[in-house]
Amino acid sequence: MHLYVATSNPGKLRDFNTAVTGDITLSPLPGLASIPAPEEDADTFSGNAILKAVAYSLAAPGLTVLADDSGIELDALHGVPGVRSARYAEDEHFDTGATPDERNLLCLLDRAAHLPAPQRQARYRCVLAAARDGVLLATATGDVEGTLLTAPLGTGGFGYDPIFYIPAHGKTMAQLDQPTRLSLSHRGRALAALLAAL
Ligand code: IMP
Repeated sequence: MHLYVATSNPGKLRDFNTAVTGDITLSPLPGLASIPAPEEDADTFSGNAILKAVAYSLAAPGLTVLADDSGIELDALHGVPGVRSARYAEDEHFDTGATPDERNLLCLLDRAAHLPAPQRQARYRCVLAAARDGVLLATATGDVEGTLLTAPLGTGGFGYDPIFYIPAHGKTMAQLDQPTRLSLSHRGRALAALLAAL
């Protein structure tokens, strides 16, 4: 089975490839840059993943297209920033930090500053949707559980990685070596579940 992922992000493709086995092949959707991107305006990860998979599959007739949405959820903040993870600082009018990733991270640290250690449970979540010719085939979710630190640690990874701590490894995602990071990928887990569903 050949699957086409609606992303040109090499990091995401690497994460997804951790779950590929047997006769499955995965490649970026051809011509992605010239397909108008749908607006990601759903209020859930699955809503955005589905609308993207359906829209991109209509632009690529006959191909099975995968699209994802992902982010970080903090239980004590009722799942925030969740689906707004990439635009959290912007939503909160928080402008400290040099890059969007840094502003988002500092914004979450600020909004979670009042939470004691037992209330800092968080997770990375990825929802994947598969569609062909505009018809949704399946969706699946992958999670990785962690806790939110009060200050960044480590320089690897991207996004919220320096404040996302994995207790089982005693490190943040930004401190883990690449093979360990890949083995924990919420995107890899979502793809494994999606392949099982397909
Ligand atoms: P999207 O799925 O590309 O829309 O990503 C949403 C946002 O979630 C990103 O901009 C990051 O801030 C955050 N995010 C998603 N996955 C990860 C990850 O593996 N590490 C760190 N941040 C992530």
